[in-house]
Amino acid sequence: MNESSRFGTRCIHAGQAPDPTTGAIMTPVYMTSTFVQRSPGVFKDGYDYARSKNPTRTALESNLAALEGGKHGMAFSSGLAAMDCVLHQLRAGDHVVLSDDVYGGTFRQLDKIFRHHAIEVTRVDMTNLGAVREAMRPTTRLVWLETPSNPMLKVIDIAGVRAIVDEHGPKAGKAAGVRDAALGPLGTPIEKPILVVDNTFASPYLQSPLSLGAHVVMHSCTKYIGGHSDLVAGAMVTSDDALAERLKFVQNAAGAVPGAMDCFLMLRSTKTLHVRMQRHCENAMSIARWLEKHAKIEKVIYPGLESHPQHALAKKQMPRGFGGMISCVVKGGLEPSRKMLERVALFSLAESLGGVESLIEHPAIMTHASVPIEARKALGIADGLVRLSVGIEDVDDLIGDLDRALA
Ligand SMILES: *Cc1c(COP(=O)(O)O)cnc(C)c1O
Repeated sequence: MNESSRFGTRCIHAGQAPDPTTGAIMTPVYMTSTFVQRSPGVFKDGYDYARSKNPTRTALESNLAALEGGKHGMAFSSGLAAMDCVLHQLRAGDHVVLSDDVYGGTFRQLDKIFRHHAIEVTRVDMTNLGAVREAMRPTTRLVWLETPSNPMLKVIDIAGVRAIVDEHGPKAGKAAGVRDAALGPLGTPIEKPILVVDNTFASPYLQSPLSLGAHVVMHSCTKYIGGHSDLVAGAMVTSDDALAERLKFVQNAAGAVPGAMDCFLMLRSTKTLHVRMQRHCENAMSIARWLEKHAKIEKVIYPGLESHPQHALAKKQMPRGFGGMISCVVKGGLEPSRKMLERVALFSLAESLGGVESLIEHPAIMTHASVPIEARKALGIADGLVRLSVGIEDVDDLIGDLDRALA
């Protein structure tokens, strides 16, 4: 593999070389907490203690960095642990602009933990760039967005948001904060707002936020990167050296790192990421078109459909496909949608997404129950809204299952 290798080649090879001791083609699972030192403070390649560095994790972090086209990869014990690492970069009084239709746990972390640490949050519909500009304050240090969003599959213009972020920065003569060398990397104030894109729904195969202007791309690897519903993990990638130093400092100092076995499973998974995503996209497109014609379906939301309000942007921003997530509204509201979810046999009724097997869920009752009813209504999370995570089974079997469930 070299610098110019294409996506599928990077999936399989980036960050990995045959094991130097045995030639094992797969990266070993380094089940070790510590590493022997030749002399006090003299250790190999920076390996002194496994929270700080583990060879299986190093391979995964390099692999994920290559997939996102970035310089520095960092793996975490969950997607929310990756987010926590970013929020620890902020100081009391800092302000965050957050897209309105985000994963419930993302909002909960800001609202229930970091609000307590005097971090202020404004939620905005980022499909409206004017609203993003209006939400920015002199104290804004973080802009966090998710695209496509969950569950309304809104598509946000990453480059457009970055342009607004660039309009903001320290005003001439006004320091952004006090430098405190005793705090290490966190002692340097953040001068300009950091733009973080949660790329979980698209995966690195479909969308490259760093190339569109994001400073940091974040993943819940629990979803498409893991891809087999068998682990919980998170990741971040950045090309900004100073930011990477800060994030890696917190990764180690706060310590929410994944174990070696989970890193190995993710390395196994990313080898097929491009192939899985192609099938997720094909299947979802066929199902979205089929649902669009179904008499019992009021509305289908899928970025690949011409009827999607940001379809043109999605085509530009996600050139390889539109992902495996579909939301649809069943006519008649709660009862008919409940019936559909009880009747599916091949789709499993469960939260989460991004695995090879198809899942179906009811956002108002399940994943988004904690969102107050008025906020749900404002976002469009109707009582008849059903969310599908389309897997990579044979699509005719999936359509047959939905057909029977809706009959
Ligand atoms: C699941 C999810 C998260 C949280 O990740 P965990 O791995 O569950 O901690 C964050 N963002 C999105 C879009 C998600 O789907």
